[in-house]
Amino acid sequence: MIDLRSDTVTQPTSAMREAMMSAPLGDDIFGDDPTINELQDRVAALFGMEAALFVPSGTMANQIAIRTHTQPGDEIICHRLSHIYLYEAGAPAAISGCSMHLLDGERGMFTADDVRTAIRANDQHFPTSRLCVIENTQNRGGGSVWPIEQIANISKTARELNLRMHLDGARIMNACVAAGVSPEDYAKYFDSATICFSKGLGAPVGSALAGTKAFIARAKRFRKMFGGAMRQSGILAAAAIYALDHNVERLATDHTNAKKLAAHVSTCPHLTVETPETNIVYFDVDEQTGSAADIEAKLNKANIRVLALSPQRLRAVTHLHIGKDDIQGAAETIVNSASKS
Ligand SMILES: *Cc1c(COP(=O)(O)O)cnc(C)c1O
Repeated sequence: MIDLRSDTVTQPTSAMREAMMSAPLGDDIFGDDPTINELQDRVAALFGMEAALFVPSGTMANQIAIRTHTQPGDEIICHRLSHIYLYEAGAPAAISGCSMHLLDGERGMFTADDVRTAIRANDQHFPTSRLCVIENTQNRGGGSVWPIEQIANISKTARELNLRMHLDGARIMNACVAAGVSPEDYAKYFDSATICFSKGLGAPVGSALAGTKAFIARAKRFRKMFGGAMRQSGILAAAAIYALDHNVERLATDHTNAKKLAAHVSTCPHLTVETPETNIVYFDVDEQTGSAADIEAKLNKANIRVLALSPQRLRAVTHLHIGKDDIQGAAETIVNSASKS
């Protein structure tokens, strides 16, 4: 089975499991877990920020950040395709009482001018524009990588307008490897940033949130409130540390594999492929050939798993269990699935 549904389907390797088995542990709610403390220091240093907090999921990292930055009645400015809007179960409204001002733009990205236009005037009728969220890489935008100048411009505008900046960095290391930009260089434009260890980095569980010491102290209370404070969680942090040490540079291989897959699939006249920037490949099947669900089902029978996302659109994601031969085989099978219908 070649599973290209997501980069979250990976299993911890035996070396990663060994690192987990041998990690020194303690009760993290007492601050006693040395492995958690080590990971949090690593993440703070990675982003050049003062402090960091380990949390169970990327969703919780984003939602704690939103809850910490905002109050009910505030508005969050983000792209229409952002994860916090599409895929977090309505949490900004449910948990933080925030409305969202949705921006458009190619590949999930927007500009400083878009942000300026979205800002509400200071008037009792309006919600308070409080937070701007940028996702890098942008998942639904095609795993796209934000040009750093565009982020710098948005950040400058946000600071002028008293708007805080949050980076949804679930796949920030994919962006860093693809663009040759350090996490710190991106993070300096933000008040808070996340990283997810259970996507392309291959850990089984966990994300982290970084920011100032004061921000993280407040975020810690919300982590407790949301049920995300854990005990001997260093066993998970050990996997994350292992991932940072061993699985970052190899993301370049996932990006190469995604490009190869896209190039091969684009030879099929019934499929339209977006050229991937990182590890996520989106492709559309033409209506005469069938639906995305038809292609998904056919591929499933041929032991290739992809995700049908909308009536014509499919997604394939490369990750650390996918080798060159898998890509060749998967690409041929995908082309066949759209040819013989
Ligand atoms: C996966 C993802 C998250 C959160 O993921 P969890 O499944 O909650 O860990 C957040 N943002 C983006 C862009 C993601 O792709």
